[in-house]
Amino acid sequence: MRQYTIAIDGPSGAGKSTSARALAEKLKIAYLDTGAMYRALAVALLADGISPKDAEKVKELLPKYTIEVCFTEQGQRSLVNGIDQTDKLYSGEASMGASDVSKHPFVRQYLVGEQRRIAETTSFVLDGRDIGTVVLPEADVKFFLTASPEARAKRRWLDFQKKAEPITLEQVLQDINKRDKQDTEREVSPLRRAEDAYLIDSTDLSFEEVLAAMLEIIEEKKIVAYVEKI
Ligand code: C5P
Repeated sequence: MRQYTIAIDGPSGAGKSTSARALAEKLKIAYLDTGAMYRALAVALLADGISPKDAEKVKELLPKYTIEVCFTEQGQRSLVNGIDQTDKLYSGEASMGASDVSKHPFVRQYLVGEQRRIAETTSFVLDGRDIGTVVLPEADVKFFLTASPEARAKRRWLDFQKKAEPITLEQVLQDINKRDKQDTEREVSPLRRAEDAYLIDSTDLSFEEVLAAMLEIIEEKKIVAYVEKI
């Protein structure tokens, strides 16, 4: 079986990581969450008292940070200088910090290089903001997964509820809108749909429906010999 890659891009809360993980499991291939790499860098910078927005400082210190991922039974772990940051990646501060740090071209250059290197090793589903446009423009299948800001905020808020994080739905919606604006308006690699990406709007779709739609396209494109349906 030849090696292949599947790219899933889209705004935050559209369900990219849930569908990417499930898709990778169905196809028995690996999954790389690229957002976790930006998040891990942001968490490490914040812990060192550096603002992820501070371009000069981040540029000066970036060579001192080594970002690695490893794949375990429990999923991807993200390490900075050998320290596992995975459990700290999903706070509001880490989310905004990741969006702030991802604006710097030198940060993107470093992480895109790492992502390409990882994706070369085996078949992968990658999710992020620029996979189909920049990281792997030659990906075998590209999806652009989106949903209305309200639907995305609701999903994120329900996740926070499960973790008993005290945050209101309005606050989550505000954060999502702010991050969307920053991610789509930044100068380098802004979030946009690749021309050849399949658009899936998950506003009124269940997780199973999104996954089924993706599997159908993968089957149509004959990337794998056999796709086990859900
Ligand atoms: O996908 P996730 O929400 O974990 O990503 C966190 C932030 O990292 C995004 O808001 C975005 O600014 C940045 N990111 C990016 N390019 C990627 C993945 C994430 O700029 N490929």
